[in-house]
Amino acid sequence: MMTDELEYLKQRIPLLDYLQQRNWTARRVGAHLEFVGLCPLHPDTRPSFYVNASKNLFYCHGCGRGGDLIRFIGLSQGLSFRQSVAYLQQQIPPAADSEWLETVASFYQFQLHRYAEAVPYLQRRGLRDAGLIEELGIGYAPAIGKLRNHLVAHGYGLDRLLETGLITPQGRDTFCRRVIFPLGQPGPLVNLYGRSIGAAFPHRLLPRPKGGLFAWDSVRCCSTVILVEGLFDLASLWQAGFRNTTCAVGTHLTPLQLAQLCDQPGRQIDIVFDQDDNHAGQRASHALAQRLRSAGLDARIVHLPAAHDPNSFFCAGATAADFNRCREQAR
Ligand SMILES: [Zn+2]
Repeated sequence: MMTDELEYLKQRIPLLDYLQQRNWTARRVGAHLEFVGLCPLHPDTRPSFYVNASKNLFYCHGCGRGGDLIRFIGLSQGLSFRQSVAYLQQQIPPAADSEWLETVASFYQFQLHRYAEAVPYLQRRGLRDAGLIEELGIGYAPAIGKLRNHLVAHGYGLDRLLETGLITPQGRDTFCRRVIFPLGQPGPLVNLYGRSIGAAFPHRLLPRPKGGLFAWDSVRCCSTVILVEGLFDLASLWQAGFRNTTCAVGTHLTPLQLAQLCDQPGRQIDIVFDQDDNHAGQRASHALAQRLRSAGLDARIVHLPAAHDPNSFFCAGATAADFNRCREQAR
């Protein structure tokens, strides 16, 4: 087993995600991304099992055992190293998985200019830069689903499509009248986000992890990072020249996304979530800012004019200078 293959496996399934999917409950401790809970490896009455989410390591002060995810699988399931790696490989979508997501994403991308409603919708949302639309790989899932036939014709079994959530149990395409953003770029795709252009519930992801922060590889080198919740927010900011913007796809950050933001101490994070009526965005911003500050980052909350998100702000005619003025007032 090659070392980089092992690293890839461990990155694809962060230790904390793995534990939490198996109902391990924990609370956060300390300034770093450390969590503590009962040890899953032995009967435990006092939380003694620590997980460092940024290092992807665990250590139990009760039984004195520690290590990475592969070690944990070996201990918890009584498997050898080699067996643990094989087990872990079965837990992640095989490499072919991101390949078929690519197939699906390029199918949708191909549809974008073939339906009269798609590009005008993007324009209404202020997205006019054809180069950026192409760069983001934005596509369109039309009303009359054709994905199923396309994929079946390419040799994908129907049971597999049902499993991925791309096809409903009734056999119809899941994404319908939605603008599609592929998630995971650059690198293998991990999910697709579909924004309804009609009356359906606005946001939809496939039933699989949303992955890390959007385009993190291109943003991580920046000493100031702008964090938004939606992909249209990100597109507006990139279009206005704020390439140091990343997106969490929602206001709830996964442990992986938190660890990414925290991977450089002292980094400034400008949080620009929606200013919605029920204050959910504001509450999420404050909770996140506190979390980031306790991890040693300089987190600031940027307030846009009432009822605006970055996308609607720029749509309403705001300029980069207007946005920067809001940032200057950030606390
Ligand atoms: Zn233990």
